[in-house]
Amino acid sequence: MENLEKLEITAKILEPTSEERNILFEKCQNYINNFLDQLKDAPAYSPGEYPLLKLQEISESETSLDDLLNILQTEVDAIGINPASGKHLGYIPGGGVWSSSLADMLAASTNRYAGVAYASPAAVAMENMMISWLCSIINYPSSAYGNLTSGGSISNLVAIQAARDFHGINSTNIKQAVIYVTGHVHHCVSKAFHTTGLYEANIRSIPMNKRFQMNSDLLKMEIEKDVAKGLKPFLVIATAGTTDVGAVDPLNDIADLCEAYGCWFHVDAAYGGFFILVDELTSLFKGIERSDSVVMDPHKTLFLPYGSGVVLVKDRQALLSSNSRKAAYMKDTYGIDEISPADAGPELSKHFRGLRMWLPLHLHGLAPFRANLKEKWLLCRFFHEEIQKLGFAVGPEPQLSVTIFRFPDINSNDSTQELLDMLHALGTHFFSSTEIEGQLWIRCAVASFRTHLDEIKEAMQSIEHCVTEIGYKVS
Ligand SMILES: *Cc1c(COP(=O)(O)O)cnc(C)c1O
Repeated sequence: MENLEKLEITAKILEPTSEERNILFEKCQNYINNFLDQLKDAPAYSPGEYPLLKLQEISESETSLDDLLNILQTEVDAIGINPASGKHLGYIPGGGVWSSSLADMLAASTNRYAGVAYASPAAVAMENMMISWLCSIINYPSSAYGNLTSGGSISNLVAIQAARDFHGINSTNIKQAVIYVTGHVHHCVSKAFHTTGLYEANIRSIPMNKRFQMNSDLLKMEIEKDVAKGLKPFLVIATAGTTDVGAVDPLNDIADLCEAYGCWFHVDAAYGGFFILVDELTSLFKGIERSDSVVMDPHKTLFLPYGSGVVLVKDRQALLSSNSRKAAYMKDTYGIDEISPADAGPELSKHFRGLRMWLPLHLHGLAPFRANLKEKWLLCRFFHEEIQKLGFAVGPEPQLSVTIFRFPDINSNDSTQELLDMLHALGTHFFSSTEIEGQLWIRCAVASFRTHLDEIKEAMQSIEHCVTEIGYKVS
């Protein structure tokens, strides 16, 4: 008993009083306000040494929140890419809407468990409602289901596993199985092939046309060749918004072929999917509703903070039978009508992710999300036109909000790299690069809700400044 009394005193350090919480909360609030208020002028990239966090070891005793926030400010938030910045134009940004952090705080404080309906019927219903809404925007039937995941990589894994199981691909028939992708499929798909064992199947890379879209005529030829060889084509993976250049594969043509040859049609729309909400772009996605599975990343083009992905599967039973397993210690949770996220993905205990999507969508309404998407599309087209006026070579006209540029000579890889290095050293805006057929291209990905006309005009000025410094002459 004496021992328990002593332990309880130390154990209760984990439960601050409401006065203590207010003090801690206010410090964090000030930190966040300072961070966000300075964001417009802050660099998008600050190259720096690998930081050595001032506090390296966990000790038995307490450290003040001031000291901890100081480490966050001087080391974590001062070095590297600043993904919250509207001047982040590399990879695929998103920004991370602040109102999601309120939802995360609520979710973490109340710690509702949204894995099984028995544990929190309404938390699960909220997640399921978000899944239904996501299904509705791609015109999936209400019989479809899905899973809120940590991001596109896990979402693609879940979809590819469901396709494998639906077609009964296993160690006895994998050498006959055939999968079709393009050279611009995201590399997480290759990780998913590894995890699911599908790397042992035949994986065909279908050539792309000049706009970097899968050539569906060549896809048809490859499938027919494989059928003639006695192989079993079972999965076609299209991309709606490639990471390299933002290209959307011809979804409707691919849907025709998948229907004709009995293949599972998967669409990786991690980056591009939400652009279906822009009236002018809806037609690019024609055929997505005919697919078997779709991946979208709310932490990209729904502008939520990192840790939000979604996978949707049209045949609910295919998703459930690929993921649902029973356990004796879970028996009290069975027999509820509402389907549970734990039966539709690999996770059991999980973050209550629905809340960080539900709250911002209701708090702000859908209109500002839609406006942001259309604005990003137009800003990218503006950049694409303006950068050509500086003498740069560009890729095809952007279908969504990614464009690529380089110095125009065939042999300009070195000078283009020099420009990229200089932009990184300058750091006002962050660009990343890609390589296509041996040529280096700088990418401009407009996908943060904080990127507006100012940010793009200033980006043009930064590029102009660096070009002058390099003294490159367009021949
Ligand atoms: C970002 C992206 C992924 C990977 O998603 P993560 O959320 O980074 O795991 C997959 N596919 C495409 C097309 C992407 O743009």
